[in-house]
Amino acid sequence: MTPGTEPESFESIDTSHLVGVPDAFQRLWTPHRMVYIKQGQPSDDGCPFCIAPTLDDESALIVHRGEHAFVLLNLFPYNSGHLLVCPYRHVAMYDDATTEEVAEIGALTQTAMRVVRSVSRNDGFNLGMNQGAVAGAGIAAHLHQHIVPRWATDANFFPIIAQTKALPQLLGDVRQSIADAWPASA
Ligand SMILES: [Zn+2]
Repeated sequence: MTPGTEPESFESIDTSHLVGVPDAFQRLWTPHRMVYIKQGQPSDDGCPFCIAPTLDDESALIVHRGEHAFVLLNLFPYNSGHLLVCPYRHVAMYDDATTEEVAEIGALTQTAMRVVRSVSRNDGFNLGMNQGAVAGAGIAAHLHQHIVPRWATDANFFPIIAQTKALPQLLGDVRQSIADAWPASA
């Protein structure tokens, strides 16, 4: 496998009802695939960000549901605790979002940073939106804001020599710890 190609293992499972885009990294763990088994196959190949809110929090890896937007874990995280903030509405571009959606995406991003920092003691974040497939958006049709925690020690040699990314926590455990730490009033 060369960098930039999708691992073959992802082609054999249907991830269309879940959120995330396979990348070149193979993971050291696979228990998160239980969510595919438990959830069964989706009835259609609709937008995963539209389907996620229709599932229960554990199945969809949702950590918080707001009024106009929600927060969930990326199924294919760059780092442990990689969150996405999405409007419920199926809009592609940031300038398609309403004033209320923009405000809540911003507020949820701030709360997510505080929660992740309190849970995982990370040293920094990457925040951002890829707008359009040409800009790197995996699911370009539905707006999503990335929140990627970074640690001073996270740029290790592993991805370079082995195309393997070591993620220290299982997704279900990460979702639970972030959901538990989310303030009730936010
Ligand atoms: Zn959608």
